[in-house]
Amino acid sequence: MTDPENKSSISTIDIYEDVSDWDVNAGGNKVVAKRMTGRFRKLKWFGMSVWLVYFLGPYVRWDGQQAVLFDIPNRQFHFFNVTVYPQDIWMLSLTLLFFAILLAAVTSIAGRVFCGYFCFQTVWTDVYTWIETRLEGDTPQKAMKFKSAPLSAEKVGRITLKHSLWLIIAMLTGLSFAAWFTDAFQLWKDYFTLQAAMPAWIVLAMFTAGTYVFAGFMREQVCFWLCPYARLQSVMYDQDTLLPAYDAERGEPRGKLKKGQVDSAKGSCIDCRMCVAVCPTGIDIRKGQQEGCITCGMCIDACDSIMEKTNQPKGLVRYASYKELHHNHDSIPVFKRPRVMIYGLILMISFGGVVYGFTHLSPTEFQVVPERQPLFVQLSDGSIQNKYTLRLLNKTQHPIEVQYRISGLEGATLHGLDDLVHIEPGRINQLTAFVRLEEDAVNQAISPLIFTADVINGPDIQIRYESMFMGPN
Ligand code: SF4
Ligand code: SF4
Repeated sequence: MTDPENKSSISTIDIYEDVSDWDVNAGGNKVVAKRMTGRFRKLKWFGMSVWLVYFLGPYVRWDGQQAVLFDIPNRQFHFFNVTVYPQDIWMLSLTLLFFAILLAAVTSIAGRVFCGYFCFQTVWTDVYTWIETRLEGDTPQKAMKFKSAPLSAEKVGRITLKHSLWLIIAMLTGLSFAAWFTDAFQLWKDYFTLQAAMPAWIVLAMFTAGTYVFAGFMREQVCFWLCPYARLQSVMYDQDTLLPAYDAERGEPRGKLKKGQVDSAKGSCIDCRMCVAVCPTGIDIRKGQQEGCITCGMCIDACDSIMEKTNQPKGLVRYASYKELHHNHDSIPVFKRPRVMIYGLILMISFGGVVYGFTHLSPTEFQVVPERQPLFVQLSDGSIQNKYTLRLLNKTQHPIEVQYRISGLEGATLHGLDDLVHIEPGRINQLTAFVRLEEDAVNQAISPLIFTADVINGPDIQIRYESMFMGPN
């Protein structure tokens, strides 16, 4: 922001216009952004294509089942051949931490690139406006001409087609979200036969309405007024953060040039306003970095194409740090920035934790709880008996047959668990067992005792639980 009291200390910024000239489009004007090709446009298409995973992911099968499924009713998360239970919720926490820190690290390095290239709001808006510009005109003038044209069959047809396509995309968005939580193919059948569960209808209705309104009508206003990340991102910036910026020293004084004309008194900017025309949020980047900028780089593509046409070097508008642009200091390399190093460390720890979790997930969860009241009983034959509750959770995707045994205590015998125990996938089996020991063999108050559960069908699983045997001495 330019401070009139302190202009000498920020001389380069003086070139920018006052903050009161910021292009904050509060929704009064509809932005019709021109579309141009270029390297950042290609990058945006690539970023957008990642969302195909959202639409197609639920249909991927693995071992005869949906590969990725958030099974809320059974409190399980299936990820290919791994099933995560609430007991392993720490992995979800680490995963969320990883993505939160990744977002912070990326923002610190290159600003709101998430907004510009991946965010669902900007991606869906881009698709919606692409449809709109194809049908109603790809410049503000053409759009206005279409709007003010008398009602005709063609105009009604175009408007109907636009809203139909918008609604289809909105419904597919809602259906795809629901499909991550239930069998995707069955969900389609349930919707078409009107047999879907109430939560599925609610999800579909909410996502359809939300997508249609947010991407079709509110567009960049969602970023301005509703997005919490847009409010937070500025605290992640520093003077080394790369942002799309206009090189005012090189560009000013701006001025129009006739074809072939060279005017050494003027800067590189020919005031063609192409950078403004392509901006999806209606910003003039020449007024400096602004709140509404989603760092999509479209203005860079636009200006580069103009520089090419006027035989000037590209980069009048480019990704640049504050330091680079104002020649105060050299930018610090990414790996030497303390903020990025701390983010990187947390990223490595959380990623390592998630990888460890996935590679060391136990296929079962085994727990042995000794009875406390009483600690032991003495039977009529004089032997000492302890009572235990055994709980075993089958985290595999197949039924298992389990045989229990004990070890580690000479002479101890296990009672009440003679038969094989059948446990369905995702189920906990709870049993009561007794361990007996001749009185003469009990030579200490607490003796170590190991319970072992051998899974005798399917995978070679053997789970041990170290417990204890209580005696009178
Ligand atoms: S100013 Fe440039 S980078 Fe920022 S939103 Fe507009 S086109 Fe994208
Ligand atoms: S596109 Fe480049 S040359 Fe044209 S107005 Fe924008 S900054 Fe100036």
